[in-house]
Amino acid sequence: MTSKPVSSASPSSNQPKAEHIDHFSRLIGAGNCLTAAQDVAPYCEELRDKFHGCTPLVLKPGTSAEVSAVMKYAYDNNLAIVPQGGNTGLVGGQVPDASGDQIILSLERLKTIREIDADSNVAIVEAGVILEVLQQAAEDAGRFFPLSLGAQGSCQIGGNLSTNAGGTGVLAYGNMRDLVLGLEVVLPDGRLWNGLRSLRKDNTGYDLKHLFIGAEGSLGVITAASLKLFPKPLQQEVAFAGVADPHQALKLFNLARNHAGSMLTGFELMPRMGMDFVLAHLPGARDPLADPHPWYCLVEVTATTKALDSRALIEAIFAQSFEEGLVDDAALAESQQQASDFWALRHGMSEVQRAEGGSIKHDISVPVSQVPAFLDRALPACKEALPGCRPVPFGHMGDGNLHFNISQPVGADKDAFLARWEEINEKVHAIVSDMGGSISAEHGIGLLKRDLLPGVKDPIELDLMRAIKRQFDPKGLMNPGKLLPNEQ
Ligand SMILES: Cc1cc2nc3c(=O)[nH]c(=O)nc-3n(C[C@H](O)[C@H](O)[C@H](O)COP(=O)(O)OP(=O)(O)OC[C@H]3O[C@@H](n4cnc5c(N)ncnc54)[C@H](O)[C@@H]3O)c2cc1C
Repeated sequence: MTSKPVSSASPSSNQPKAEHIDHFSRLIGAGNCLTAAQDVAPYCEELRDKFHGCTPLVLKPGTSAEVSAVMKYAYDNNLAIVPQGGNTGLVGGQVPDASGDQIILSLERLKTIREIDADSNVAIVEAGVILEVLQQAAEDAGRFFPLSLGAQGSCQIGGNLSTNAGGTGVLAYGNMRDLVLGLEVVLPDGRLWNGLRSLRKDNTGYDLKHLFIGAEGSLGVITAASLKLFPKPLQQEVAFAGVADPHQALKLFNLARNHAGSMLTGFELMPRMGMDFVLAHLPGARDPLADPHPWYCLVEVTATTKALDSRALIEAIFAQSFEEGLVDDAALAESQQQASDFWALRHGMSEVQRAEGGSIKHDISVPVSQVPAFLDRALPACKEALPGCRPVPFGHMGDGNLHFNISQPVGADKDAFLARWEEINEKVHAIVSDMGGSISAEHGIGLLKRDLLPGVKDPIELDLMRAIKRQFDPKGLMNPGKLLPNEQ
């Protein structure tokens, strides 16, 4: 799939005109209304260079009240809004269409950490706070915010909520949905809903916050969130293990889980091909093991108390895994730096694929026990369809979530390879569906998978989703054309 314009999907909205721009300037200041082509261009493209749209206007309100005023005016004047956070989304949800009718609403100026309440283990933060900034603020307060992903230096809390982001901490702490206590949201008509509660228990009816989490900006604009914090891990042990195949990896996972319980905080799977790419393209990367292995597992154990010995625990896990012949070789990190270096190999695996040419991508999940069986079926299917291709299936094995990516054969024509994207997706997704899995484990639907949704969702579920959309956004002005396919 090569870069393509996002097709127009909001025929009922108006094109923003000079009078609208003047009004927005009065609401939030002219300097926060970008109209020059070179200023708006970066907001119209995304990292993977798959989708590009255009907009006459990027609005950057600085407070929730300003977001509310902007949304009310947009609603009254039938102007379509595309919320944008850090613009690291991988399914095109944050990019406007090609009509030039859609206004981008950037949350980048809403970056206040309103409160960190260490006693309640709660942080109240605005939508534009960068994930890494929150992680650091939590640490400074002696606490831990566990969401962790490769884009954490630029993705924002509002984007993490709107995509229900996952990442490497899900195994122990859950995804973004599990980390939320309350939300502040501006509805499509401009009303500001203050649902910023910090309660652990609150059974007072429908839990509306969950509708906005994972909604990809289709129901409203999240302006702030009340988030859970956790005790800071005081011990961390990371091991890098070479294994023969994903079946051995699954056995290792279960062994580690049985030993460590909730202290097992990371279990990632990587193929040798991915390691080859990382070693070739990630500056400073070094193979922790002396010899190459077909597959690798990164295993992390942490403890939030000094009373338990996490080193003894991980040593026991690997002693038994060697005894049972699950692992061919393993290295235990001897320092914090080495632990970070091991993680860097895993985190670098997404980015380095770009240097190897075209890559056809999937973000799938199956039940954890089915990961090896899925690979046994999907890898031969892809190799048969794409002779010479270089599969790089890697990711969060402990969550049953793999980024099942296929790099082009060496020397192949990139465009011709990427032209096979839909065909290969279809083959892989058919296997996923057959195994009771999901075609989007953590990246969302956006534009990339919008038209696949009717094929995988129960029609009743799709009907209910459309009814919710109509209820919240009767004019269809919120991120039009994303997530939900047009009604037939
Ligand atoms: C290198 C790399 C690694 C990644 N790793 C992971 C990973 O491990 N796990 C994972 O889940 N994702 C991962 N991602 C994907 C991406 O980082 C996440 O989806 C992230 O949560 C998006 O946040 P963002 O602020 O960039 O949102 P954007 O890309 O700006 O927006 C994403 C969606 O949310 C909507 N949106 C944004 N802000 C708001 C708001 N305040 N209110 C309403 N709607 C809003 C947008 O309209 C869009 O539909 C990765 C991306 C990269 C580039």
